[in-house]
Amino acid sequence: MSVPISFEVYPPREPEAAPALYEAIDRLADLSPNFISVTFGAGGSDTSGSIEVLSYIRNQTQAVPLAHLTCVGTTEAEARSTIQQFLDAGILDFLALRGDLPEGQTRLAPGSLSSASELVGVIRDVASVPGAKIAVAAFPNGHPESGAERADLLALKAKQDAGADFAITQLFFHAEDYFRFLDLTEQAGITIPIIPGIMPISSTKRLSRVLELTGEREPVELASALSLAADSAARLEVGINWAAMVVSELVAGGAPGIHLYAFNEYKNVTEVLRRAGLV
Ligand code: FAD
Repeated sequence: MSVPISFEVYPPREPEAAPALYEAIDRLADLSPNFISVTFGAGGSDTSGSIEVLSYIRNQTQAVPLAHLTCVGTTEAEARSTIQQFLDAGILDFLALRGDLPEGQTRLAPGSLSSASELVGVIRDVASVPGAKIAVAAFPNGHPESGAERADLLALKAKQDAGADFAITQLFFHAEDYFRFLDLTEQAGITIPIIPGIMPISSTKRLSRVLELTGEREPVELASALSLAADSAARLEVGINWAAMVVSELVAGGAPGIHLYAFNEYKNVTEVLRRAGLV
């Protein structure tokens, strides 16, 4: 069984990390992904860093570059100008995100965009290139702000209504979380494809960090296997096997694609796909 695959990378945090990232991108592109997406700092802080990596993908590989774009704290005029910078670099596909206000800041400046659905509308308006796609985020276990009423479903419907073509999920650890979410989205009238996002986790430290960043609940079985593993090689094995198992279950259940959070390296995610029989 084969499904489209895609990857996420982030701009290098320091220049010395760039060569390894570009090598990773080359190897990931060899796997013929549907796209490689590049993250974006909230507040437009690393527009040039993102554009540099996206341009590399566009100019040096066969893969389609997909630009993450956040909007919280920026006005519509600023968002239009940022979108234009991407278009000028030949980047036509976007993942429209709200982003998060810097820690401690709770109020938006007057005139700021405040949701991803508004950004989808702006991108549709500025960047209506035939064939170009607009993706949005989806949260199988709910967004940290969405509460028990699952306001994230309303938000996802609003993003679809504004013109989103497909969604990519927040990482999660159990395939059943994704399939339960698909039932909820169906009930909410959401029909766009929802591509599950998976990250192989190879250390307890990384697990703690991603739980902190995403608000996901601890996957008890994975956490315990990681902490019982004898050394870093054994932890890597646990993380890759876990991710490969989830990917296999997702594909068997009919997921329309697999998106891997590559963490700027290629060996682990390639091994996940190999064990899941996708490459
Ligand atoms: P929105 O869809 O606007 O929604 C956020 C929440 O607001 C909703 O869950 C809901 O509770 C509420 N809400 C919004 N609209 C409505 C509505 N119409 N009705 C009711 N409630 C509503 N962050 C970055 O800074 N850079 C990145 O590159 C980045 N990449 C990401 C990639 C993926 C695949 C994912 C899943 C997340 C990514 N993020 C990134 C994180 C993202 O910016 C945060 O999760 C942010 O808090 C929410 O963004 P959003 O686009 O889901 O927001």
